[in-house]
Amino acid sequence: MKGRIVPRPRGERARILAWEGLAGRPRPRRAARPIIILASAVSLVGLAALAGSVGGSACSKRETKEPPSTALRTANTHEPRDANANANTSANANTNAEQSRGLDPGAQASAGAQASAGVSPGPGAGVGPGAGVGPGSQANAGGDSGAGAGAGADSNAAPRERFARLLITSTLESAAVQAVGAEEGVRLAQVAKRALVWWLNLGRDLWPNDTVELVYELRGVEEPVVHAIWLESRKLGVKRSAVLYTAQGSAFARWYDEAGHEIELRLKNSPLESYEQITSLLSDGRGHRGVDFKTPVGTPVLAPFSGRVTRRNWSRRRNGNCLEIQDSKTGQRAIFLHLDRIERRFQPGQKVTRGQKLAYTGNTGRSSAPHLHYQLELGQRVLDPFKVHRTWRASLPASERPAVQKLFVKYGAMRQGST
Ligand SMILES: [Zn+2]
Repeated sequence: MKGRIVPRPRGERARILAWEGLAGRPRPRRAARPIIILASAVSLVGLAALAGSVGGSACSKRETKEPPSTALRTANTHEPRDANANANTSANANTNAEQSRGLDPGAQASAGAQASAGVSPGPGAGVGPGAGVGPGSQANAGGDSGAGAGAGADSNAAPRERFARLLITSTLESAAVQAVGAEEGVRLAQVAKRALVWWLNLGRDLWPNDTVELVYELRGVEEPVVHAIWLESRKLGVKRSAVLYTAQGSAFARWYDEAGHEIELRLKNSPLESYEQITSLLSDGRGHRGVDFKTPVGTPVLAPFSGRVTRRNWSRRRNGNCLEIQDSKTGQRAIFLHLDRIERRFQPGQKVTRGQKLAYTGNTGRSSAPHLHYQLELGQRVLDPFKVHRTWRASLPASERPAVQKLFVKYGAMRQGST
C-alpha cells in the first residue's frame, strides 16, 4: 500500500474539489446533509499569522483524555466514526491522503463567491433554502475572489460590526441568506460554522426555530469576521456563546466562552504548536480524511510520536511536499501534506522522536492557502486525530478574562439593541 495511488472516481473527486472550494467548481447539492465548511481563516488575523505563535504560553492547559465538554463530543458524534469505526475501509482508504481531499482551505477562494454570484444581495433576495447556495456549494469566499469586493470598503459610512439573527428554517446558510442577503450570508455561514461545529452537529442537531446570532464584520474580498456568536439549540437544550479575542502574546484571535475557555479543542502532542484555526475536522461531515490547520508557511511540524519515516514526497503534484511516519509501537501512520519543506535527513527508514521538528508547513500541491493537512491511519483505516490524541482546551489566564467579559457585554448590548 505504500505509495499506492488509487484514483478517486471522477464524480467524487469533483465533488470534493468543489467542496473544498479550491477548484471553484460547483458542488452537487446534497440537501439532506449540510456540509460544514471549515475553510480558510478568519481574515482578521490572516496577516498577523506570520508573526508568531499562539502556543500554550498564554494559556493554561486542561488536559482531557476525551473531549471534555459536550462541545467536541457532539461534534465528534457527527459521523459514526470513532477511532475504530471511523475507518474508511474502502479500497482507497489508505491511499495517499490528498485523494481524500481535493484541495485545502485557502484555495477555496472563489467558490463561495460563485455560489452566490448572480444572486442579488438583498435580504432574502429570492434565494430559497439551498437554492444554489446549499451547504455544500459554498467554499470559502475569502482570499482572491473578486466577488464581493468593496463590501467592507466604505467602512467609514457604516459601523463595521453588525448584528444578525439567524432563524433556522432549514440550513444555516439559508437562514444567513435570509438575514443578511445572499452573498454575505453564504460567507458568514461558512465562518460561523467553524465555531458551531464545536458545539453541535450541524447536520443533525440544528432544528427549525433554533437561532444563531452573530456580531460580524465584513472584510471586502476577504471572508467576514465573526466577533461574537450565540447559539440556542432546542434539540440539545443548550445555549452557547463565544467572542473572538486575541490573547496577549498570541498571534491569532480565537473564540472564547464567558469563562475564558477556548471553544476549540487542541491536540496533545500536536504536529503544530501554533496555528491559526482548524478549518476541517473528520467529524464535520465533509468526508475529509484529515484535520486541516490553517497556519502560515514555515510553521514547524513536529513528530506526534516516535517511529520511523515510511514515505516522503510520494505524490507531489497532489500532496505537495509530503511525509509519512509510522509509530513504532502502535503501527499508526501520520501523514503530513502540503509542506513547504522537509528536513533533509528525514528519508524513509530514518528514526524520528516525538516532538522532533520534521518539516515546515506550506502551501504546496493541491492547496491554495497555507495550511497543514494532518492525517492518521492504521492499516486501511483512517483515524480521527481528535480521538487518537489526548486533547486539551486552552484557557485565558485570570488576568485576561475581564477583557473577554467586556466583549460579551459590548456585543451583548448590540444583541439586545437589535431585538
Ligand atoms: Zn486536508
